[in-house]
Amino acid sequence: MQDPLSGFPPGKAAIFNGKGQPFEFITRQVPPLRPGEILVKTLYTTLCGSDIHTYCGRRLEPPQVVLGHEIVGEILRIDAAHSHRDFGGNPIGPGDTVTWSIFSVPAGVTAPRPDMPQKSDQLFKYGHVLAEGNDVFNGGLADYCILRSNTALIKISSYIPLPVAATISCAHSTVMGALRIAGEIAGKKTLVFGAGLLGLSCIAMCREAGASWIGLVDPDAGRLKWGEQFGADHAYTPPKNELPWPEADIVFDMTGSPEAMKMGIDSLALGGSAIWIGAVFPAEPVPVDAQKIVRKLLQIRGLHNYNYEDFVNAAAFIENHYRKYPFEDLVEKEYPLDKVEEAFVFASEHKPVRVGIKI
Ligand SMILES: [Zn+2]
Repeated sequence: MQDPLSGFPPGKAAIFNGKGQPFEFITRQVPPLRPGEILVKTLYTTLCGSDIHTYCGRRLEPPQVVLGHEIVGEILRIDAAHSHRDFGGNPIGPGDTVTWSIFSVPAGVTAPRPDMPQKSDQLFKYGHVLAEGNDVFNGGLADYCILRSNTALIKISSYIPLPVAATISCAHSTVMGALRIAGEIAGKKTLVFGAGLLGLSCIAMCREAGASWIGLVDPDAGRLKWGEQFGADHAYTPPKNELPWPEADIVFDMTGSPEAMKMGIDSLALGGSAIWIGAVFPAEPVPVDAQKIVRKLLQIRGLHNYNYEDFVNAAAFIENHYRKYPFEDLVEKEYPLDKVEEAFVFASEHKPVRVGIKI
């Protein structure tokens, strides 16, 4: 039944009420759009590692939340106050396939640094906010998503497989940011810890950026087998004693594991850089040998989320390379929205690279 006000049928949302609680399915009318907002029909959402951490209670979110922030959708309606253009200036309209930034900086708020909008005050993040009343279409595990007025969105080709398109707005954009802060990749030896989606995306991006050698490290032999298909020269399980790989100019950590980060620093060549993006949950401190950092002129840099430049570059990377690398195969299992509980159980027990929710 169409709602006489919005013209669209009511939508379902899967509410997460905390660890150990079953998902609650609710149905709501589409609320009227506020100035500059866009109504999107959610097409596909992939469960990101941080969604799984929340499900398992390792990360805390609001008491009731519509999870999911790796989302792709189709525009249904654009409020008149919107520019009707995407972040790149291309005209957009109903029927277009779009991806959008995980965050939206509220109107009137200035970013603390122009290159770090993701750290603005009062930041709104899709899939991370309280879902209450009519305001439930704000995460990926729902039929609709309402895009806030100043959300960076990009129109993408409808040919990109949906499970791949969904991962642009978290995994690939974050990795693109990691490459940005790493600086020049061409001709460099790079070593990547973690063969999840972040690590495999990193390998593919380093390959395209002209790295001279790429190594991949992960304790899971099943995941390591992906390395070669994404451009790794060599895949390793973590060694017990001596490091089996050459010294690297750039080491990326996607694991958040203190042991891996320490091993990464120990792997760096003179003047090398360690880029950390995996440490997004509480863990033991990383023991750092300060003398090594000083005498070998090393750098350690961290990145959380990404900026607009990273998002645009990640969308372009996927647009250009989704056929070349088997990203679609990394979404190992797919569920409908009403089986989202099973999807989380499968993801937390079997640790696939990604699980997809087809909506
Ligand atoms: Zn994520």
